[in-house]
Amino acid sequence: MTDYPTLHLLIDGEQHSGDGRKTEDVINPATEEVLGTLPHATPADLDRALEAAQRGFHEWRRTSADKRASILTKAAGLIRERAKEIGETLCLEQGKPVAEGRGEASYSANLLEFYAQECKRIYGRTLVRGEGARAEVQYHPVGPIAGFAPWNFPAINVMRKIGGALAAGCSVIVKPSEETPASGIAVVQALLDSGVPGGVVQCVFGVPSDVSEQLIGSPIIRKITFTGSTPVGKQLAKMAADDLKIATMELGGHGPVLVFNDSDLTKVLDTMVANKFRNAGQVCVSPTRFLIEEDIFDKFRDGFVERAKALTVGNGMDKGTDMGPMANARGLDNIAKLIANAQDKGANLLTGGERIGNQGFFFQPTVLSEVPLDSDIMNNEPFGPVAILNAMPGEAAMIEEANRLPYGLAAYAWTNDPARRRRLAAEVEAGMLAINTGGVSTVDAPFGGVKWSGYGSEDGREGVMACMVVKAIHEG
Ligand code: NAD
Repeated sequence: MTDYPTLHLLIDGEQHSGDGRKTEDVINPATEEVLGTLPHATPADLDRALEAAQRGFHEWRRTSADKRASILTKAAGLIRERAKEIGETLCLEQGKPVAEGRGEASYSANLLEFYAQECKRIYGRTLVRGEGARAEVQYHPVGPIAGFAPWNFPAINVMRKIGGALAAGCSVIVKPSEETPASGIAVVQALLDSGVPGGVVQCVFGVPSDVSEQLIGSPIIRKITFTGSTPVGKQLAKMAADDLKIATMELGGHGPVLVFNDSDLTKVLDTMVANKFRNAGQVCVSPTRFLIEEDIFDKFRDGFVERAKALTVGNGMDKGTDMGPMANARGLDNIAKLIANAQDKGANLLTGGERIGNQGFFFQPTVLSEVPLDSDIMNNEPFGPVAILNAMPGEAAMIEEANRLPYGLAAYAWTNDPARRRRLAAEVEAGMLAINTGGVSTVDAPFGGVKWSGYGSEDGREGVMACMVVKAIHEG
């Protein structure tokens, strides 16, 4: 087993630890023990990081695409070599089962490898005017970027902030979550170890609102990218607008799952129960509102509850654990309140509903049914291990319910009717729609939402283009 790493800031290629700085403890959510002490960047540290990011940007944007691609490919290889250690770190600081941690580390390497290849696919176009005159459309890196990543997928989310930026030729200062800092540091360190210059990728921590205020307030930063809750996203988007900075916002969701009576129920249940309770439900694209055609409701409900009850909840380090603890005590409180409110409004609690033990933030896999629309959980993202099962009279009502909320991140549908699939693709308001699959995230497809789930994309070529500005050159 890997020891939890020593924590530090990474500014201009140098590690900075405590040294008189404010610090905070990082807690293991499975045991509530202190894992390590995290230094906070001072305002002077952030100024140094900004100045280095400006220098780093000018160096990196002039580095050839081939060289950028080869450095990023090397870093992806290093992350893959270190996936076992990073996976264990993820388990310790975030709570997820260690196999999921290793999978997350490998996926972040896959993302970087994809972005490395995209360095070479930044094309412009030529508009031929005749008589030698022409115009050229060029794409240029926007400038230094500030990225803010949350605690649910600490390695993948940090990579999403960094990969597109570096492929485009930008420098980036990333602030991973203070609750799960070590896996973000590990990702950044792998990039530095592979030859990314110290000013091009940096990692800072602090009081989130203080760090974001200073970074977003600086004229050096030309784009911000944030993953987290809708209220914080709205606040940061307003701050970015003050200086007309570009923003990518990947915010909350409330994933609807439309289950039609022509689908393969065993496959739906096997896929979606695992999907629901992955990472203890703390996933922005988590399936949340299961909208089930009424003639298959009883069968679906019974199969869902049976599978939820069979899950083993425990320390992610233990073999056989399907679901670890929630990542923090706030999540426990929030979910307990939402379940109590739903029951007050008349929902049926089919299984779960309770914290497990009193040490570690463990919560039972929970299933509610017949949940009224006016209960809080039908309107606010639960971000925890709770599924809502409601019977629906048919397609039109299911689409209407899917689109009722102001969120539009991931949506899921299960049907074997090709014409219906096309209608759903046209009608469901979501940034990502999975039909007959549980997956909405691949390195080469854009990941992002609509409405209150945010704007802009990460991953895919869109993730690189989101870090670029366009310039038209006219030649007479
Ligand atoms: P929160 O809104 O306090 O924080 C969410 C994330 O934003 C954290 O990583 C936090 O460090 C960061 N943050 C908060 N204020 C910030 C600021 N002013 N500047 C920069 N970063 C800031 O919420 P939370 O209690 O950590 O999580 C609760 C809710 O957040 C969840 O219920 C979920 O809706 C949402 N969330 C979404 C995602 C996602 O993947 N989209 C991830 C984590 C949390």
